[in-house]
Amino acid sequence: MAEIAFQSVTRNFAATTAVAAVSFTVPSGAFFALVGPSGCGKTTVLRLIAGLERPDAGTISLDGRIVAGAGRFVEPGQRDLGMVFQSYALWPHMTVAGNIAFGLGLRGLSHAEQWARTAEALALVGLEGQADRRPHQLSGGQRQRVALARSLAMRPALILLDEPLANLDAHLRQAMLAEFRRIHRQARTTFVFVTHDQNEAMALADLVAVMDRGRMQQIAPPQELFARPASAMVARFVGQGRTVPVEVLGTEGGLVRVRLMGRDLVLPGAAPAGPGWLCLRARDLTLEPAPGQPRLAGRVSDLRFEGGDYMLSVDLEGSGADLVEVPSMVPVAPGAEVSVGLSGGWVLPREGLAREGLA
Ligand code: ATP
Repeated sequence: MAEIAFQSVTRNFAATTAVAAVSFTVPSGAFFALVGPSGCGKTTVLRLIAGLERPDAGTISLDGRIVAGAGRFVEPGQRDLGMVFQSYALWPHMTVAGNIAFGLGLRGLSHAEQWARTAEALALVGLEGQADRRPHQLSGGQRQRVALARSLAMRPALILLDEPLANLDAHLRQAMLAEFRRIHRQARTTFVFVTHDQNEAMALADLVAVMDRGRMQQIAPPQELFARPASAMVARFVGQGRTVPVEVLGTEGGLVRVRLMGRDLVLPGAAPAGPGWLCLRARDLTLEPAPGQPRLAGRVSDLRFEGGDYMLSVDLEGSGADLVEVPSMVPVAPGAEVSVGLSGGWVLPREGLAREGLA
């Protein structure tokens, strides 16, 4: 198992800074996911770890050993890591066992060892009995498992996975999420997983990094990213948070006092006095407010049926906010004026984050 450490790592491509002075540490044995919108730099981070890219500045260490930067560069083959790609990259003319054993043979392992490790890796991914098949005789999910087994058989300290579920249909993806978690637990190897799907990252990883335009926005366990987003971008990208501009007046017993649409409210958050955002999700809002619960005036702009109940898009008119999502047991026609009860949310600082282009 390997610890990964980036220290102020930058990677430029001509005029594009794909990775901008990024620093982070991933503990040994973690399941680490890199997420962010297309072009945010997550694949470049993965390729930097693999040694397929060289940093222009900064250092990258694996298990305390500098592998890139400070005048050093360790070739990909010498980094004790495996890669699993979206395309699987299996040899079509070889059997499943042949695909897995191939790298072991190149390493000089005896036939007996190759067979033992291949059988062990196939068992780990749940493909016992498929050893003699060829890739074209397998489903997409099975091919994905063979690609993973091939990496696992090498017993690397680190496995890098680049959108490995992208080619699978929705049902298979769901099944593979549980499989990946189980395999990670049993393999006791550090996993780094790149995806543009934040739900996939939240479901899989114990540590998630959200990137935007080459920068790390936040690295935290999924629960913390959801409950305490550090920026408006994270609030919107993770769990479909909607942001409402607020004026933070000060802290009050571990909470923050804010002014929102002309009212003073005391809410959970972490922001100094000054301009802030309130991150709201559907579960923070209701059309049936309890007595004394703060209420906000809004107008329904759209509704959709969600099988059982409805989800309203509500414009908190004059607030400068995104349209917020409000669950409702009954349909409410667009144009109707509603009073929305507020039961939660998270206040974060606005500091320097432009509203434009963050959605
Ligand atoms: P996606 O989800 O679309 O794969 P990503 O978050 O993985 O995106 P990267 O592939 O890391 O993003 O790319 C980050 C930025 O660097 C993008 O603007 C991309 O166009 C640019 N880039 C990446 N690789 C190269 C390259 N070899 N040459 C030039 N520009 C590159």
